[in-house]
Amino acid sequence: MKHPFAKLIGLEVDSTEAGVSTCSIAITETLLNPHKVAHGAVLYALADTGMGAALYPLLAEGELCATIEIKINYYAPVYEGQVSCVTRVINTGKSVVNLESEIFSGERLVAKANGNYARFTPGARRDQTQQRKENSMNAVSEAYPIGTPGTPWGDEERAEWLSRQSRQRSYETDVLSVIERLRPRFDVEQYGRLDYGSESYPLMAIRSRNWRDDLPVVLVTGGVHGYETSGVHGALQFVDQHAEEYVGRVNLLVAPCVSPWAYERIHRWNPNAIDPNRSFHEDSPAEESAALMRLVAPIRDHALVHIDLHETTDTDESEFRPALAARDGKPLEPGGIPDGFYLVDDSENPRPEFQRAIIEAVEAVTHIAPADANGELIGSPEVARGVIQYPLRQLGLCAGITNASYRTTTEVYPDSPRVTPAQCNAAQVVAVCAAIRYALKHP
Ligand SMILES: [Zn+2]
Repeated sequence: MKHPFAKLIGLEVDSTEAGVSTCSIAITETLLNPHKVAHGAVLYALADTGMGAALYPLLAEGELCATIEIKINYYAPVYEGQVSCVTRVINTGKSVVNLESEIFSGERLVAKANGNYARFTPGARRDQTQQRKENSMNAVSEAYPIGTPGTPWGDEERAEWLSRQSRQRSYETDVLSVIERLRPRFDVEQYGRLDYGSESYPLMAIRSRNWRDDLPVVLVTGGVHGYETSGVHGALQFVDQHAEEYVGRVNLLVAPCVSPWAYERIHRWNPNAIDPNRSFHEDSPAEESAALMRLVAPIRDHALVHIDLHETTDTDESEFRPALAARDGKPLEPGGIPDGFYLVDDSENPRPEFQRAIIEAVEAVTHIAPADANGELIGSPEVARGVIQYPLRQLGLCAGITNASYRTTTEVYPDSPRVTPAQCNAAQVVAVCAAIRYALKHP
C-alpha cells in the first residue's frame, strides 16, 4: 500500500497478518528533537501505522478504519538505532477496535500505546436509533474477547488471557528499592516468594524495630490487587513518613505489595487468573494470599487494627468485571463506579464509629463517594456516609485474615478528574493514621 508519510520518515511495515503487525524505523538525524532524542511523534507514528496495519486484514470488503484516539506512554529515550513496533488487536467490536502497540529499541520496551479505531463502511448511513441499539448490544455481547459467553474458561482461555498480559512497570524499581531505603530504620523481611515461569518475586514485609510482645499489632496491607497503585505507594509512604510516630505504642507490620506480578501487569488477578482477594481462606489457590496468611498467623489474635488499602477504578467496570464474567461464564450486569473514597466494614463485626473517624479524616484530602440513586455504593447499601459492609471472612477477603478489633478496607478512586496520584497516596496514609489514632483511643 502506498504510504507517503511512512516513506518520508523511513518507516517500514515489516509484516502484517490478521490482528498482528510489526513495523520498524531507523532513527536518523532528521528524526531527533533538539536534545538529540528521537521525537515522540516518531514512536507515535510507529504505533499509529502498526495499528492500521494490524487491523486492515480484519476488515470486510468495502470497510475502512480510522483512528479515534491513541494514548502512548514513553518509558525511555531513544537516541539511535533501529526501533521496532509490535501491534496486536485486543478487542474487536462491531464499530470500534482496540489495539495495543509495544515499541522496542533493541530488547528494551521504550513505549507502549493503546488505541481505538473506528471501522465503518463509507456511504452506509443508518438510522441512529438502530445504531444506538446495536451499540448497547455490543456492550454486552462483545464485552470480553476471550471464551464463549455462558461457558467458564478452561486452560486454553486462561492461557490466552495470560498471553495478553504484559509487564508495564517494575516491582523492583518501584517497590523493592523503596523498601531497601527503609531498611536502616525498620526490620525488613522476606515472607515468601512467587515463582511464575522464569520470573521470581520476593514477597516483602516491614516491621517496627524493637518489636514488643506486650504491644498491640497494627497490620497494613497494600497491593492485594496489584493494579491499585495508591494502596502500594500509600503503604510505603505511611511507613516512611509516619511509622516512627507510633514507636512504643504499637507494633507495625506492613505488607505493601501483596501481589507483585499483578502490580507489574496493572491487573487484578495473578497469572492463574485468580483474584487473591477472594482467596484468603484455607487451602488458598493463590500463593499471594497463602503467603500473607502464613506471615500473619502468629499475630492473628494480637492485632488491634488491620487496614487493607485498595482502589476502585474505572477499569473495574470496563475491564475487570467483564473479564470476571467471561472467566466464570456468567452474564455481565453493568454497574456504576462510585465517584470518590469509600470504606468497606465487616458486616460480621461492624465498627461504625471507627469507620466514621477514618471517613472524616480522609475527607480533608479527597472527596467521599456519594451513594447512587438507589442509596448504594458499588451495588451495596450505604450503611453510613461512605461506608458499605461485606462479610469479610465469608468472601475470603484480605481484611478478614486477623481477629483485629478494628478492620477496614479503603477504596480510593484514582480516576476522578478531581484527584492526583499524590492525593490518592495521601488519602491512604491519612486513613491508616486515623485508624491507628482511633484504635489507640478506644482499645
Ligand atoms: Zn482492590
